[in-house]
Amino acid sequence: MQFFNIHTHHSLKSENVLSIQSFSLTNDSLVLPPDDAVSVGLHPWYANMERFDADFERLSEATQRPNVKMIGECGLDRLKGEPLPDQILMLEKQIVLAERVRKPLILHCVRAFPELMAVKDKMKVNVPMIIHGFNKHEELGRQLLDKGFVLSFGAAILKADSGASKLIQSTDNFFLETDDSDVTIEEIYEAAANLKKCYVGDLKARIFADWKKLAYV
Ligand SMILES: [Zn+2]
Repeated sequence: MQFFNIHTHHSLKSENVLSIQSFSLTNDSLVLPPDDAVSVGLHPWYANMERFDADFERLSEATQRPNVKMIGECGLDRLKGEPLPDQILMLEKQIVLAERVRKPLILHCVRAFPELMAVKDKMKVNVPMIIHGFNKHEELGRQLLDKGFVLSFGAAILKADSGASKLIQSTDNFFLETDDSDVTIEEIYEAAANLKKCYVGDLKARIFADWKKLAYV
């Protein structure tokens, strides 16, 4: 059985890994791979209000493609990009789109978790909302899980005392990823299995089954 990497920016191909490569459609010279599983969104670092309508139109078109498995990464970042109220507007549009095409959202969130939770409540979002690269404290993670978010852990679980490492021990509601780091997905699975005191094979099976449930496409 393959490893499943829910979020990466690298195009590294391997028979042992099914990965979802993430693209921001804020770059109009971008050519999406025709068949590989990808996610597409307007990343909060690069999305801007001025060209949002044009970018969003290209995004809407791209989301029809069967190899587009998720919308994102999109989300909120207090430290980078447009002012937060504008980021919220752009995120909300992408949520409406995800609901329309019935594909999960893969979310980037930096220092804007209350705002992200408020958006989820306000819009009563039905598609799965996966927060990628969760690396905050355990309590916040638990709160997000209680709110119905799904978490994805990456390199943060390589540090035994991180919030992500603590949280992963008491939940089975997560995916694993490499994002833009140089660690391999095999190393991430190994670390997760160690923390959870389970076999890598069991983790792979559980994660693949959950992915099949989430991705209706
Ligand atoms: Zn990323």
